[in-house]
Amino acid sequence: MARYMISRLLGPLLVWLATVSAGLCVAGFRGATLETLVPLAVLLCTPAILSVLLVPAAHRDWGQALILLIWAGFSVLVALIGGPIWLWVVFMTVPIMGMLFFKGRVLEGFVLAVIALLATYFGADYLGVPDSPLSNLSLRLLGLVSVAATLALLIAAMMTATEGRQSSGMLASGVSSGGISREGSGIPWRQGVSGGLFEFDARNRLTASNAIGAQQFGLDGLNETLTLADLADDDAASARLIEAASKAKQTGAACVTRIALGPTASEFAHLDARITPIPGGGLLLHTIDRSDEEARLEALQRSHSVAEQEAADKTLFFAGVSHELRTPLNAIIGFSDMMRSRLFGPLPGKYAEYADLIHDSGQYMLDLIGDVLDLSKVESGRYTLSVDTFDLSDVVRSSVKMIRPAADAADVALNIDLPQDDALLLTADRKAVRQMLLNLLSNAVKFSPKGSHIHITAREDTDQINLSVADQGPGMSADELANIGQPFTQGAAGRSTEARGSGLGLSLVRQLAELHGGRLDIESEVGDGTTARVILPVTAQT
Ligand code: ADP
Repeated sequence: MARYMISRLLGPLLVWLATVSAGLCVAGFRGATLETLVPLAVLLCTPAILSVLLVPAAHRDWGQALILLIWAGFSVLVALIGGPIWLWVVFMTVPIMGMLFFKGRVLEGFVLAVIALLATYFGADYLGVPDSPLSNLSLRLLGLVSVAATLALLIAAMMTATEGRQSSGMLASGVSSGGISREGSGIPWRQGVSGGLFEFDARNRLTASNAIGAQQFGLDGLNETLTLADLADDDAASARLIEAASKAKQTGAACVTRIALGPTASEFAHLDARITPIPGGGLLLHTIDRSDEEARLEALQRSHSVAEQEAADKTLFFAGVSHELRTPLNAIIGFSDMMRSRLFGPLPGKYAEYADLIHDSGQYMLDLIGDVLDLSKVESGRYTLSVDTFDLSDVVRSSVKMIRPAADAADVALNIDLPQDDALLLTADRKAVRQMLLNLLSNAVKFSPKGSHIHITAREDTDQINLSVADQGPGMSADELANIGQPFTQGAAGRSTEARGSGLGLSLVRQLAELHGGRLDIESEVGDGTTARVILPVTAQT
């Protein structure tokens, strides 16, 4: 940017100096004396020389302001010395210099110059400025040379501004000199812009870019032939940009697309590109780097597929192991059952009791393996519901019948509350519903004190089936309730009871209910019993 400012300012300033020198030389050849020429040379050359010295600071706001002030000061000086005839000429130099910095403000510059000119004219008249100290010849020379220099400066400034417009478009920037950054230029459109910004003309030729944009696309500088099509090295990215650009032009509205550039080193850069049509048929391209977001997404996708693979492996492993375990377990259960039933004769003393224990333990292990297998299937998404429509009352009655021997042994009463007349039709996986109810019932029996009651209720309530099991057991605290339903989680009652537990039962109920599009609700208070409620849609939402 600084280099660009230098090239913009230096040319016109040198033209001014050359014109003044040439004018003074001509005057010298025509017989003007040194006493006349030296003060004129000082008056006309000093602002230009000072400005040349300030050129390195011309990309700063204060540098620009100082240069303009110097020109304005010398204009006033020349006006006061030379008199009103030359006022209009020297004052023109100020807006001309301004034009080099802010070409959008040329009109305002001229208006201000005219106001300053009038103020100086009338001010000088009012204050009664003494007659010009210069001779008539000096005044004529001053007039001629300053008219010539001002005209030369005006032409040089206009040519520089036109050249700037061609190379940088209406957003004029340092791109033509290779400094794509516009830092410090004070151009309002790019202030606060995060990401890359590019401007294209009606023929899709790149006319301006900011530093971030140039960095994103690896541009060293602009050249006349760079277009939207060859902005990105990647063919797919170019095609996307062109497609978005034509869509934006067609609809007249902004169009957003995501492009991948690269790979640079080993990585792709992912950019969100927003293309907006601008007046005059051109386009504005705003690019935001989304590489981090894309990398996070890719990492997530990778870990998701790894997790899926692991879950599938786990299910396969459980399926294999459970098959291997079930075969000998069935033998253990079958033979211990034969012994219990004394199929081949009486069993002496303790052996009968041991046969019972072997049978119960075998049965418990079989149930446990079933639970683990089902749970891993649900978790890996491989549990497929086989849905049909059935009367839930039948399932409730048959499940209660299955659990009654255990309830009788624990001295717990089972009360069923079902709709009297109508069937309670439910479209769901019958086996899964029975499993949920059996798990709730076995928990209720396991944790109920002797002589207490368990209430089993099934109701239809606005397209939902509400199946609840309420006991009068020890209940659960709010802390326990918060974790219950996670695999292998047990509460105080589960840990203190003599009956065995794995912490899998409620977890399976919750997952099966959710698989149907329903849920498991547990209401419980310590010492005040527990009500476990399975709420299912009348028709399973799989
Ligand atoms: P398990 O009963 O095999 O331990 P569950 O998942 O069925 O596993 O239950 C988890 C825990 O929830 C139990 O250990 C127990 O602490 C608590 N719980 C479940 N049902 C009841 C209930 N009806 N009354 C009191 N506590 C219960």
